[in-house]
Amino acid sequence: MAAINIYHLYPGQLNLYGDRGNMLSLLRRAEWRGIKLNIIPVEPGGNINFANSDLLFMGGGQDSDQKLVAKDLKGHSKNLQRAVDEGMTIFAVCGSYQLLGSYYTTADGEKIGGLEILDMHTEAGNNRLTGNAVISCSLWEPEKTLVGFENHAGRTHLGPSLKPLGKVLSGFGNNGLDQKEGVVYKNVIGTYLHGSLLPKNPWLTDYLLQKALAYRNQDIRLSPLNDYMEEQAHRAAIELTKSKKHKRNSTRA
Ligand code: GLN
Repeated sequence: MAAINIYHLYPGQLNLYGDRGNMLSLLRRAEWRGIKLNIIPVEPGGNINFANSDLLFMGGGQDSDQKLVAKDLKGHSKNLQRAVDEGMTIFAVCGSYQLLGSYYTTADGEKIGGLEILDMHTEAGNNRLTGNAVISCSLWEPEKTLVGFENHAGRTHLGPSLKPLGKVLSGFGNNGLDQKEGVVYKNVIGTYLHGSLLPKNPWLTDYLLQKALAYRNQDIRLSPLNDYMEEQAHRAAIELTKSKKHKRNSTRA
């Protein structure tokens, strides 16, 4: 039986705006195809068995929680770098996305050191960027949209070698300036989009599952599912961003 091992890092600290729901999406869409998904939670001080890890997920967190996990994460950085080079999939949302880069400076001026796996850095502005967001994403041909919810003080700037996950159609994205949202590097995906993100964007869920299977040479094509409900949710989120009722804010940090 095909199987995928997902290491879920710091579920107790990094879980904002429904990020844990991403795990449920991965779990269900794997199970519906007869694929066994093993979710291994890792708390600070815990171990990651890299020989056994196919996909690593980390959610978003408040500055204080980011600070708390950053040191522990640094302890894994050599192994993480090697795994990324070998093609392991990482999916990181908001606070943990920021920690993939060289640093995040909080609104209080505190510099939290990152993993330095990606050539990017983040600095908090003096207001928070919040609201529903839509991006166009070229992981698929033709392009597909991704919808999610963002709430961050950090402004992330990608180095010249890095590609964004998508182009902002509505919302703020990485920094509210360059219309870039998230990052794709090898099989690492970082994004500011919460939501949970995956239930409303089933094509991204399947993309992650497919990459995780391929990493362990499991040559399985994911069978199509009935995505009627998921597509309705996706469309409703897009409609919301177009409606006058939609609140998009840049509130004080
Ligand atoms: N604390 C970070 C920021 O405000 C990340 C927030 C989040 O994960 N939503 O930018």
